Amino acid sequence: MTVPQNITILGATGSIGRSTLDVVARHPDRFRVFALTAQTNAAELLAACRAHRPRFAVIGDEHGAAGITKALRQGGIDTEVLAGPRALETVASHPETDTVMAAIVGAAGLASSVAAARAGKKVLLANKEALVMAGPVFMRAVGEGGATLLPIDSEHNAVFQCLPGRFGEGLPECGVRRVILTGSGGPFRTRPLAELARVTPDEACAHPIWSMGRKISVDSATMMNKALEIIEAHWLFGAPPEAIDVLVHPQSVVHSMVEYADGSVLAQLGNPDMRTPIAHALAYPERIGAGVAALDLARIGSLTFEPPDFERFRALRLAYDVLREGGTAPAVFNAANEVAVAAFLAGGLAFPAITDIIEAALERVPAAPVTTLDDVLAADACARAAAVAAVEHRSRRSA
Ligand code: NAD
Ligand code: MG
Repeated sequence: MTVPQNITILGATGSIGRSTLDVVARHPDRFRVFALTAQTNAAELLAACRAHRPRFAVIGDEHGAAGITKALRQGGIDTEVLAGPRALETVASHPETDTVMAAIVGAAGLASSVAAARAGKKVLLANKEALVMAGPVFMRAVGEGGATLLPIDSEHNAVFQCLPGRFGEGLPECGVRRVILTGSGGPFRTRPLAELARVTPDEACAHPIWSMGRKISVDSATMMNKALEIIEAHWLFGAPPEAIDVLVHPQSVVHSMVEYADGSVLAQLGNPDMRTPIAHALAYPERIGAGVAALDLARIGSLTFEPPDFERFRALRLAYDVLREGGTAPAVFNAANEVAVAAFLAGGLAFPAITDIIEAALERVPAAPVTTLDDVLAADACARAAAVAAVEHRSRRSA
């Protein structure tokens, strides 16, 4: 009889959070929900607390916490409800939690993800923005805290599965020549460029394959998601920029590949369902059921691949540029994107301008060295201000 893992799910009401709860609920003998967090969705957090009876729940504000506490007590549930960003760090680093699913979207997840790493947890990383922003600080926290970092992003989880166990020694030493990240190309891969200025947030969020939160869906449509994943792969696997390639694969069945010196290419395949990488990381190094149907290649018939279009998806080239520049450049890249995507989703920016805003912020905010989390947060704040100014400048011009 093994002792169940105590799990904290940061961002439990999101797309990844829900899929995690789905997998966890299939294995009550292995997993116990220790803490659940949500920013605003009190009703869903309450329902998840009723179903999983965690020790802690965290919501964005005190008012929400009071409401959830009252409703839980009426049902005889004694979950302790906390509020605010510091409470996220408390539950992420709590001595009684073993595993932390970091599934908050964007820079808002940085402090809690790093807190889990510093506290030496098994960190299941979906929140790629945290690693992109703060790569050196994050990886130092993992090393010093003795944490185990497992990728949830389907591409990185696939690469992890295709790498030899000792890749920490360095990829060339393991005979690895290249990491090949696949990407579907999103909903606008073949849309005439002239039409992109008119696409709506709902069209951008209607991903042809994956069902995800709105921010990452827009990132997929600009291929900024793949751009962030290039930087994520650099930090996770110690891969230099020239050893990371992107391949467009519209069916999203091959989740990524690793090429070895002898010409072998190992790939991980599966149905596009995030419960597979989530279950892989939750049970690692064992394997458990995830509720995912068997892959039926005979029915799919053919898998296709094409090179990415660097003119259409300028974010991809920018990713290599900021990775080579280093320091705070990736934090600026990420922050400007978060501002631009929020403006696009709010109806205040045309779709093609998202990448323009990122370029403008990178021009205005020079890269500086990164030693501490404060260096990252300062760059994040400067980049947000530059991006907001660039968005306002555009809306004045088009008014
Ligand atoms: P989502 O928008 O569906 O959910 C986001 C979660 O974060 C919610 O629980 C929300 O309450 C919480 N949150 C939002 N703002 C917050 C704040 N300021 N403070 C605290 N909590 C906050 O997002 P998602 O699609 O589940 O993505 C989550 C992360 O996983 C992102 O970093 C994304 O890039 C990554 N990811 C997602 C997928 C996917 O299939 N959805 C795949 C790979 C990676
Ligand atoms: Mg991905």
